[in-house]
Amino acid sequence: MTAPVGLPLWLLAELTYRCPLQCPYCSNPIDYAQYKEELTTGEWFAVFDQARQMGAVQLGFSGGEPLVRQDLEELVAYAHKQGFYTNLITSGMGLTEARIASLKDAGLQHIQISFQASDPTVNNLLAGSKHAFEQKYEMSRLVKQYDYPMVLNFVIHRQNIDQIDQIIELCLELEADTVELAICQFYGWAFENIEGLLPTKEQVVRAERITNEYRKKIEDRGIKCKLIFVVPDYYEERPKPCMDGWGKIFLTVAPDGTALPCHAARQMPIEFPNVRQTPLKDIWYDSASFNQFRGDEWMPDMCQSCPDKERDYGGCRCQAFMLTGDAKNADPVCGKSPYHYLIEEARINSETPTPFEELRFRNPKNSKLLSISQEQLIPTRTVTD
Ligand code: SF4
Ligand code: SF4
Repeated sequence: MTAPVGLPLWLLAELTYRCPLQCPYCSNPIDYAQYKEELTTGEWFAVFDQARQMGAVQLGFSGGEPLVRQDLEELVAYAHKQGFYTNLITSGMGLTEARIASLKDAGLQHIQISFQASDPTVNNLLAGSKHAFEQKYEMSRLVKQYDYPMVLNFVIHRQNIDQIDQIIELCLELEADTVELAICQFYGWAFENIEGLLPTKEQVVRAERITNEYRKKIEDRGIKCKLIFVVPDYYEERPKPCMDGWGKIFLTVAPDGTALPCHAARQMPIEFPNVRQTPLKDIWYDSASFNQFRGDEWMPDMCQSCPDKERDYGGCRCQAFMLTGDAKNADPVCGKSPYHYLIEEARINSETPTPFEELRFRNPKNSKLLSISQEQLIPTRTVTD
């Protein structure tokens, strides 16, 4: 069945892959260091114009660290004038009171700050920066003072999951309105480090129980703080409807202008189009890469005949590719997949994790080293536009 193509309601502008931090779970591509030609301010304006004309309403500014772009305020102001709802997804590094104020003046509506841990030492070790925790803490306070909705994000993994109660306490101290406790999704650097980051099932169950207990306490105390707990795919038996379906509502533009249906898709053996050469409308509606996994014709037999295919679209294409080498396979998270044993093996391996010291941190040197070994693994490209 060929599904009608929807509108790209959600635009994610990955302004840069540059970032002062080195999180070992970063979702940027392993080979990010090789992409240097960032879109200019004017090129981003053209992307916003086209996306807005096509019906996009939400615009997330992310990276890397979007604050390293000195034109961020200009980009926000332009997007705001175009009528986008704008959201800044930041580590807080590079934020100052002056920038919080100027972003507010530019019309920014939402800032989400990420922390690595509630403990300053662990936070700074994971971030690869001595001052990260202090900076994040101070900026979170200021963001609140400037009357933005206070959204904090913690990527939860083996190295911080047992401190979930301290993490929630920190969020309450900072008067967060919304807290995302998202257990690591294993793409990019997180996949590279899965053996040191995947928590055990017992740890996940405990963390969810404590989160539920806090939800009750928060309600009883009349505090307005929403806790969102995201269970990792690796402890599910059915896959998630990744990105709400390939090329359905999400459109990501990478720093160099490569257009992607999902920020993790760049690792796949697909030649994605670039906004520098192709109008966004042609990319969204007509490109081979955006059409490749729309509808259900591409699905394997087990998904074609499955009643759940309208709910999960066969799961995540990136995960199918990473784990099985073929993006057309069903997501191995599915208990019916012949590759589900790979997920079960990862669960078993989580009982004997690799130590913290063996994590590969996201930095240009590791990016160069790891992309050399990856190139040898990736099969020849299969689709071109
Ligand atoms: S996950 Fe960490 S390293 Fe990656 S962009 Fe965010 S702050 Fe930077
Ligand atoms: S068989 Fe395919 S469509 Fe059915 S639940 Fe599994 S992944 Fe989803």
